[in-house]
Order: sequence, then C-alpha cells, then structure tokens
Amino acid sequence: MSSTIFSKIISGEIPCEKLYEDDLCLAFNDIAPQAPVHYLVIPKKPIINLLDISPTDKDLLSHLILVGKKIAVKKNLSYWRTVINTGEESGQTVFHLHIHFLSGRAMKWPPG
Ligand code: AMP
Repeated sequence: MSSTIFSKIISGEIPCEKLYEDDLCLAFNDIAPQAPVHYLVIPKKPIINLLDISPTDKDLLSHLILVGKKIAVKKNLSYWRTVINTGEESGQTVFHLHIHFLSGRAMKWPPG
C-alpha cells in the first residue's frame, strides 16, 4: 500500500486535531467537516478499505467502532452517522481505511 495522507498523520509527519490514540488506532477531526461534529477513526495498520480486510482484522474493526462510540459518548452525542467509503465511486478519496462519525445536524436519507 502506498503512503497516504493518513499514514503521514499516523507517523506525525502531518499534524491533526487528535481526539484519541492507542496502539491500534487514531481518531481526529476531519479537516473539511461535513457536519458540526465530524471525526475519523483510522487503524494504524495500513488497510486500504473494506475490500482489503480479512477475518484476522475482526477485533481491530470492532475496536475502531468502540473507540468511535467512546468519543461520541464523551461528546454527549445522542445520535450520529457512521460512513465507510469503499472505492472511488463510493466517494473514497483517501485510500487508508477510515470510519467517518458525523453528528450535530439532521441527516438525510438516502445519502447522496
Ligand atoms: P473519504 O472521502 O471517505 O476518503 O474521506 C476522506 C476524508 O479525509 C475527507 O472527509 C477529508 O476531508 C478528510 N481529510 C483529508 N485530509 C485530511 C487531513 N489532513 N486531516 C483530517 N482530515 C482529512
């Protein structure tokens, strides 16, 4: 997997507004928020997207969701939307797995 902006954030080469970090993952505010609350949770392991996961990533994937929920609870969010884009046509622009957490405004369905 080639280096992405997120691998540079993980290595500290590029700064971010960090919300949480541990051995497995990092969470930070999105640089171009699409809602009043918009943060990303990413694995430190270089996974491209959901096409690139395997059963051995099971614990890591649930950890990412639990970390995202922990941040949401800390922010007193009572609702949020999670988005994982997989592939260019879905809207993926950074090819390092990330989960979007969005809140603070009414969400529409279906998403665009
Ligand atoms: P996606 O379109 O699903 O690949 O989402 C990539 C997200 O990364 C977008 O919402 C971008 O605004 C966000 N992003 C890109 N560069 C940075 C950065 N340096 N710091 C924080 N978020 C970023």
